[in-house]
Amino acid sequence: MNCGLLGEKLTHSFSPYIHSMLGTYDYRLYEVSPDSLCAFFQKTDFQGLNVTIPYKKSVIPYCKHLSPEAKKVGAVNTILKKADGSMIGHNTDYFGFRYMANRSGLNFYKKKVLVLGSGGAANTVCAVLDELGSDTVVVSRTGENNYDNLYLHKDAKIIVNTTPVGMYPNTLHRPLSLSGFPDLEGVLDLIYNPSNTMLLQQAESRGLVALNGLWMLAAQAKESAEWFTNSAISDDVISDIHRKIQAKTENIVLIGMPGSGKSTVGKALARLLCKDFADTDELIVQKEGRSIPDIFSQKGEAYFRDAEARVIQEISKAASTVIATGGGCVTVEENLPVLKQNGTVIWLKRDILDLATDGRPISQSVDLNDLYAKRAPIYQRFCDFSVLNDASAEEVAIRIQKLLLQEVKDENPDH
Ligand code: NAP
Repeated sequence: MNCGLLGEKLTHSFSPYIHSMLGTYDYRLYEVSPDSLCAFFQKTDFQGLNVTIPYKKSVIPYCKHLSPEAKKVGAVNTILKKADGSMIGHNTDYFGFRYMANRSGLNFYKKKVLVLGSGGAANTVCAVLDELGSDTVVVSRTGENNYDNLYLHKDAKIIVNTTPVGMYPNTLHRPLSLSGFPDLEGVLDLIYNPSNTMLLQQAESRGLVALNGLWMLAAQAKESAEWFTNSAISDDVISDIHRKIQAKTENIVLIGMPGSGKSTVGKALARLLCKDFADTDELIVQKEGRSIPDIFSQKGEAYFRDAEARVIQEISKAASTVIATGGGCVTVEENLPVLKQNGTVIWLKRDILDLATDGRPISQSVDLNDLYAKRAPIYQRFCDFSVLNDASAEEVAIRIQKLLLQEVKDENPDH
């Protein structure tokens, strides 16, 4: 069976990987320019198709029938070709968002929900919210409800972001601040790259429910696969897909005292997890064209911290990378949300007597006990968990791998 994804630009698509977990059909990427759409449908042999930007509306005239969801939303993201060659258009984003809303555990009934953005995804979200009985308000840059009169909606209980604001590569942005919404219960962000947008991080820091768009993506793929194969698939697979993609794409960030072994353990961990490796100190040296002691002595620490923050901003956008950071990166508070956007942060601890000091200007100029006393509470606050580096790099890497698996289990109590 031939299936695939139709879109204009499909680099970095997760869909082939997701569909490999859902069925045995071939799943290809069809990158088609708008003026070749008609020829694509005439010439391409497929039985099932997913459709993405910018074709979710433009494929409708090619479909002989539309499902009730596709009609309701006015967009098609899944096409099934019948034996006679005619096509049925369906919308599995509808199921995808309804699954995500249910997964959040939030009660949408009669609650004020702000939907940020008024594009295609917003249409789907609004149709689902209508079914859930929400009091929905669409916030649009040019609409009656816009970003200048958000005070009218400070009683909002739930916010759904359907804008691309905060999406890779502009990951440091967010569509609004949550501070003006004291009654907020949760935030659903349709973005899944990065997995932890600035908006979601702000929600998490307030203890609110916060879900990323990978839930919707995985759920819509599951329903598409059901259409392709004409068989029911358990919803349990959605959590599996979510867990596997998070594990495959997440960065692992090592923080800790200078000389605690972050680079050595980081390289061993990258080998073990089949991820790339990056060392922020090495990246700074490459960019600046001089050693760290030279940067400190010639330009001072403030200059170094700025250069470090820029390197952290760049490398944190990467996926699937183990990132060894400099010991002092935690002294700049702004580095924390940047490191967490795609990453699990691990504090690598080591006995103070075992800390390496060669080529480390700060370690050589201060009492390490004093430095530890100052930094330990910050490492604790920055990290998701800590690991003691008191064995070989390979053994410590295995310990970290076990803790990461444990963390995933705790996050997915249904598994
Ligand atoms: P779209 O049709 O282009 O709509 C996005 C809307 O966001 C626009 O209509 C606009 O609304 C608003 N917007 C755009 N740029 C903005 C900016 N700079 N500042 C504030 N608002 C801005 O795109 P879409 O297909 O709806 O997709 C939107 C997002 O949802 C994308 O990030 C996409 O990846 C994601 N998505 C995720 C899934 C999933 O499965 N997780 C599925 C579909 C889409 P106004 O002009 O009204 O402000």
